[in-house]
Amino acid sequence: MKALDELTFDNRFARLGDAFSTHVLPEPLDAPRLVVASDAAMALLDLDPTVAETPVFAELFGGHKLWAEAEPRAMVYSGHQFGGYTPQLGDGRGLLLGEVYNQAGEHWDLHLKGAGMTPYSRMGDGRAVLRSSIREFLASEALHALGIPSSRALCVIGSDTPVWREKQERGAMVLRLAHSHIRFGHFEYFYYTKKPEQQAELAEHVLNLHYPECREQPEPYLAMFREIVERNAEMIAKWQAYGFCHGVMNTDNMSILGITFDFGPFAFLDDFDAHFICNHSDHEGRYSFSNQVPIGQWNLSALAQALTPFISVDALKEALGLYLPLYQAHYLDLMRRRLGLTTAEDADQPLVERLLKLMQNSGVDYTLFFRRLGDESAALAVARLRDDFVDLAGFDAWADQYKARVARDGDYSEAQRRERMHAVNPLYILRNYLAQNAIAAAESGDYSEARRLHEVLSKPFEEQAGMEQYAQRPPDWGKHLEISCSS
Ligand code: AMP
Ligand code: MG
Repeated sequence: MKALDELTFDNRFARLGDAFSTHVLPEPLDAPRLVVASDAAMALLDLDPTVAETPVFAELFGGHKLWAEAEPRAMVYSGHQFGGYTPQLGDGRGLLLGEVYNQAGEHWDLHLKGAGMTPYSRMGDGRAVLRSSIREFLASEALHALGIPSSRALCVIGSDTPVWREKQERGAMVLRLAHSHIRFGHFEYFYYTKKPEQQAELAEHVLNLHYPECREQPEPYLAMFREIVERNAEMIAKWQAYGFCHGVMNTDNMSILGITFDFGPFAFLDDFDAHFICNHSDHEGRYSFSNQVPIGQWNLSALAQALTPFISVDALKEALGLYLPLYQAHYLDLMRRRLGLTTAEDADQPLVERLLKLMQNSGVDYTLFFRRLGDESAALAVARLRDDFVDLAGFDAWADQYKARVARDGDYSEAQRRERMHAVNPLYILRNYLAQNAIAAAESGDYSEARRLHEVLSKPFEEQAGMEQYAQRPPDWGKHLEISCSS
């Protein structure tokens, strides 16, 4: 275990120089204080979790202090936002403080979000509010616990600094961890500004640091792009299988590592709804739940365009062609497991599709359905779940097929079935209303709810004593919360 001043830095992105990022110092928050920290994320830096409670921790991650070896930088990038190209974006309110490596030799970027104005702030104030910081923290750590690749979050630091959104709120900072903060939009920036040398430097950097195994391939850049396609297909399959809606899948929010990145008005589905739009400024539903799948491919095409200086168009097209079949394979594999199946049959896909249609028509809770399906034998579980459906004849027909399918799948005990299914079907997910409760308490100075919710969500598959209230459908007020896009 390390003390806070023992972190070891190796700022490889900063060393790329001023064409890639600008030196900017964090702007401190007034009266910084710990809201919540993640012990699991602390462990990634070899930090003893108790240091989170020390005043120097809030000073470091509230922008008051810096390690001598830190090199805070605002990165430049661009990106396609809602389908249109924005020529210059960049870290408008976040700073890459530096890259730290742990005892296992893993490198982690320390990124402080809400750290004040930068040359890329455009009309913004460089700040993040407590509300959105808590949401990002909870989501990052909850997705990770579900096995969905995501950036991580070390802590949220709250403050007295006033920040204006629709009303006056308070500023906060989130310390985000990721192996890289490079987005699709980084490649787009150097491609569209016609800077081939920097574009090549960036590609080399990503290849060397993040895809070294692709070096061995005859065409290393193509191998790297293929890997990015594969990782995105797998990540989005997991979003769809677990009901996660990102909300702002602009190419500047897509990580070259295939991790969930940049949390805004995201949501987990309560009732299953393929058409769900979590972002209230997304009037056309570009980033609706079911559109996430084709948008994943659209975004990869935008990245492919930016890689045309290195890879032939035909090879890029071929690699893009991998996306949908890979997505389908990962998705179906996960959905089979969610249904408790251990073998594969061709008819599993229509079995899943029919179930989702029935759930959609009856507004069935997506998470609880699968959890309860694993509570008992298939026959007992479907008999109990039947009451949640309006189209009883439709459900009965599905249930008969499901029971027959389970019988063909293998001969295992109810206990084996439960254990296997509960290991992939969470009991606790980050429902919007749960986040809202934690935020309301935190805004009045009580951080205990945010901390408790974080704890519960760190073990989403394990039933936790006394935590029944976190495994319920939302109350009426919490069903269709409009999550503000301002953050
Ligand atoms: P986002 O929607 O959070 O992914 O941000 C899109 C772009 O706007 C990025 O370049 C952000 O850095 C920038 N941005 C968002 N909010 C602010 C803010 N309050 N101040 C400065 N820049 C911001
Ligand atoms: Mg962003």
